[in-house]
Amino acid sequence: MKICIDPGHGGADSGAVGTEPFRLEEKDFNLSLALLLEEELEERGHWTIMTRRRDRSLSLPARANVSNRTGADLFVSIHANAAGNPAVKGMEVYHFPGSKAGKAAATRILDSLVSSFPTHSNRGVKEANFAVLRLTDMTAVLIETEFITNPKQLQFLADVENQKKMAAAIADGIEAIV
Ligand SMILES: [Zn+2]
Repeated sequence: MKICIDPGHGGADSGAVGTEPFRLEEKDFNLSLALLLEEELEERGHWTIMTRRRDRSLSLPARANVSNRTGADLFVSIHANAAGNPAVKGMEVYHFPGSKAGKAAATRILDSLVSSFPTHSNRGVKEANFAVLRLTDMTAVLIETEFITNPKQLQFLADVENQKKMAAAIADGIEAIV
């Protein structure tokens, strides 16, 4: 399968910022997990393209264009979530409203994530008119891994072993899409 991996935010756009128990910017977590996902998918024989491989700004249309012009079968945007209430936690995956293929892909990926991390809350598959979901020509999902604003979940996200396990779970979910 041809998969376009999009590490959300970057450069001047840090995305969400967690500060407890230490500072973690979403853009850095997203890139770290995305590079591990790239490695995991390449090892499994898939063809991948990254929208960014370093800390740089990239518009939402530019992200979709990378995916569209390379003819990817699947677009996967990687994010961490944020909420005003530090107790909020859980995993969720978005697809474009009304997209059956997007819903199926989001369901497989979220199912795989929550089965790999059974202690994490399943917030479900959701629809959103996000630019990267709207402007991409192929099946597209946006993964909100966990809440960077929750101190316990920030520690979870920052741990490279957890990131490797997340990358494997996302790859399993991608391979379950038929
Ligand atoms: Zn984000």
